[in-house]
Amino acid sequence: MNAHPGALRVVANVLADAIRPVPPMPFQQWIGKNIVLVDGDRKGEFWSAEDAPYLTEIAGCLSQEHPCNLVTVRKSQQTGVSILAMAWVLYIAEMCPDNALYVAPGIDLLQDLNSGKLQPLIDTWQEKTGKRVVDASGSTTYTKKIGQDTFIYLGNANTKKDLSGKTVRYGVKDEVSKWELFTDGSDPETLFFGRFTAFRRQKNYKILELSTPELDSGDPLGEGPGHCRIDRSFRRSDQRFWHIRCPECGTEQVQLDQNLIIDRGHPHRTAMACVKCGHRISEMERVVAVRQGRYIPTLSGPDRHPGFHVDAFMSLMMSYEAIAEDRLASEGKGETGAKDYHNLVLALPYQMKGNAPDHIRLMERREAYQPETIPAGGLLFVGGADVQGHGIYLELVAFGQDRQSWTVAAEYFPGATDNPTAGAWVLLDAFAAREFPDAHGVLRKLDALAVDSGYHTSQVLEWCRRRPDTYAVKGEPGRGRPAISQPQRKSVTRKGKRKRYGSTMSWPVGTWSLKAEFYGNLHKPGLAAGEPCDPPGYCHFHKELGEEYFQQITAEYFEQKLLRGKLYEEWRPRRADNHWLDCRIYSMAMAEHLGLSRMTDSEWAKLRAEREPVVEADLLAPAPIAIRAEPKPETPAALPPKKTEAENRWKKRR
Ligand SMILES: [Zn+2]
Repeated sequence: MNAHPGALRVVANVLADAIRPVPPMPFQQWIGKNIVLVDGDRKGEFWSAEDAPYLTEIAGCLSQEHPCNLVTVRKSQQTGVSILAMAWVLYIAEMCPDNALYVAPGIDLLQDLNSGKLQPLIDTWQEKTGKRVVDASGSTTYTKKIGQDTFIYLGNANTKKDLSGKTVRYGVKDEVSKWELFTDGSDPETLFFGRFTAFRRQKNYKILELSTPELDSGDPLGEGPGHCRIDRSFRRSDQRFWHIRCPECGTEQVQLDQNLIIDRGHPHRTAMACVKCGHRISEMERVVAVRQGRYIPTLSGPDRHPGFHVDAFMSLMMSYEAIAEDRLASEGKGETGAKDYHNLVLALPYQMKGNAPDHIRLMERREAYQPETIPAGGLLFVGGADVQGHGIYLELVAFGQDRQSWTVAAEYFPGATDNPTAGAWVLLDAFAAREFPDAHGVLRKLDALAVDSGYHTSQVLEWCRRRPDTYAVKGEPGRGRPAISQPQRKSVTRKGKRKRYGSTMSWPVGTWSLKAEFYGNLHKPGLAAGEPCDPPGYCHFHKELGEEYFQQITAEYFEQKLLRGKLYEEWRPRRADNHWLDCRIYSMAMAEHLGLSRMTDSEWAKLRAEREPVVEADLLAPAPIAIRAEPKPETPAALPPKKTEAENRWKKRR
C-alpha cells in the first residue's frame, strides 16, 4: 500500500522542502508520511492507523493546533502508544521546533528507548524522507539538537538534575507509574512540571503522559498519595473508552475481562460475550469491530483533559487467544501473575490481596496422600530449612509443572545450632540425606535444599559448603527482587585476598513475590472445595500435618501504608513463629532455581520421562541421560544432573 514514489518525485519533494517553509500539518497526518516502523511485521513501512485505529484521536489531541495542555494514556503492553510518543517528539522537532523533554524511569530503560526505538526512528525518518531535522553532529546520546538552539532532552526520572534547569514547552512522561519519590520526599512529577513554568501563563505547552498502571491503593477516587500515577491522572480526565458494536445486535460497548469466555482447552476459541444479546463475538468479528470503533468520553467538563484507556482488547497486535493465554499463564503465578495481567493486559491498576487464609480452612482440606512420599506429578523435589537457636525447621516440597505443590514432610529438629557438626545439624543431616519414595516406588533424593543463613551465618555456610545441592540462602524483603539470584562473594580477607573457600556465599532470595504467590495459591479453591479440578499453583497438604504447621504458614499478612506520601508495602508477622512459612518460601526459591518458571514444555517432558516412566519395560534400557549439561556453580540456569546412583541401586535390587 505504500508504493515507492518515483525517484523524480522524491527529488522534487526534497527540493520543495528545502525552499518552502513547512506548512502546518496535523500530527495524525504527519505521522503516516514520516514515521517508518523499525520493528514488527511491517518493519520498513510507513506508520498506518489501520493497525491501531485508536491512536488517531490521541494523535489529534497531540497536534499543535489542539488546545489541550495534557494528554493521558493509561495503556497495556503491545498497543503502539510508545511509538506514537516518540513520533510526536519528532513531529514537534519539525513542525513546531521548541525544547522538548522526554523522561523515563531508570537509565537502562532510557538507554533502551534511545538505542532501540528513538534513534532508529530518527535515522529511518530522515533517510526515507531526505530531511535533515536532527543535527547529528550537535547531538549527544541524550540530547538531540534541532536547528540552532533547540533540543530534545532525554531524562531519567530517578535523577533530579535531569528534571531541573531546562525550560521546555513539550514533554513526555513515559512509564510515569514507575516514577518514584526522591529520598527527600520531592516528587519527580512536580519537578518535571516546573520546566514548563514559562509557558503556563499563555497555556501554550503540551504534555503527554503514558504508562502501564501499577498498584491500586484502594482509595476509591484514586487521589490518595501512593496511588498509581497514570490511573490517578486518568481518573481526573474525561476518561475515553474505545467502544465497539456487537455484530449481532449493534449495541456499542466496551470489551471487558469479565465478559471474556475462555475455552481453557482451546484458547483460540475464546470469545467475548455481548453485554446485550449474549452473542459470542469472535476474533474475526473483533478485528472488524475494533477498526470501526470509536472513543466515547465517560465524563465532561472544562477541567477534564483528554484521557485515553488503551487495553489489549482493542489492540490489533493482540487477539482473544493471546489474551486467554496470558490469563491462563497468570493464574499459575499467584498475586504477581494477577497483578501483571491487570497492569499489562487489562491496563488497570491492581490491588494486592496478600492476606493469608484462615488456617482452620486450610486444615480442612488436608489430603490422604502418604506423608514422606512424593505424589505423582511432583517432578521437582526440594527443601527449605530455617535455623533457630534452639533447633532447625525443615519442609520438603514436591512441585509439578503447573506449579501445584505437595508437602512431603515438615519436621522440627531440636538441639543446639552453634556447631555445624553437632546438635540439630546432625538430625537435619540424616533426614535431608534420606531417599524418599515417589508414587511409583522409586527412591529419590532431594534435588536442592536451601538453608536460611540469616541467623547462624558462618555455621550455615560451613554446613552447606560440605554438601552437594545445598544452598545457603538469605531472605531479602522488598518488591521487585527476583525469587533467587546470584550470590555475592564476600569471603575476602582483611588484606583483600580471597579466602580459600570462595563458595562461602549466600544466595539472595526475594521473599516479597514468593510470599505473594504462596498466599495467592492458598486462596485458590480446588477439588476439596467442589471445583472440577485442582488449579495451577494449588497447594496440597497431607493429612498428618498438625495445627502448628498451618498456624506458621499463615503467620504473615500484607501491609500497605503511607510514609512521607509514598506507599510502602511489606509483609508483617502476625505471630512470632513463622518458620515453616520461611521454609516454604525457600523451597519455592529452590524450585525457581531449578527452572520451575523457566523450563519449556519439552524440558518438562524429558524430566517426566526420566522420573515418571510409564511402564517397567525399559529396565534394560541405558541409564537415563541427565536432562541438562553440568551446571556451572554460579549459573542458576540449569537443573543439576540427577544423582543416579540411588536409582541404579534401586533398579539392581529389583
Ligand atoms: Zn449483541
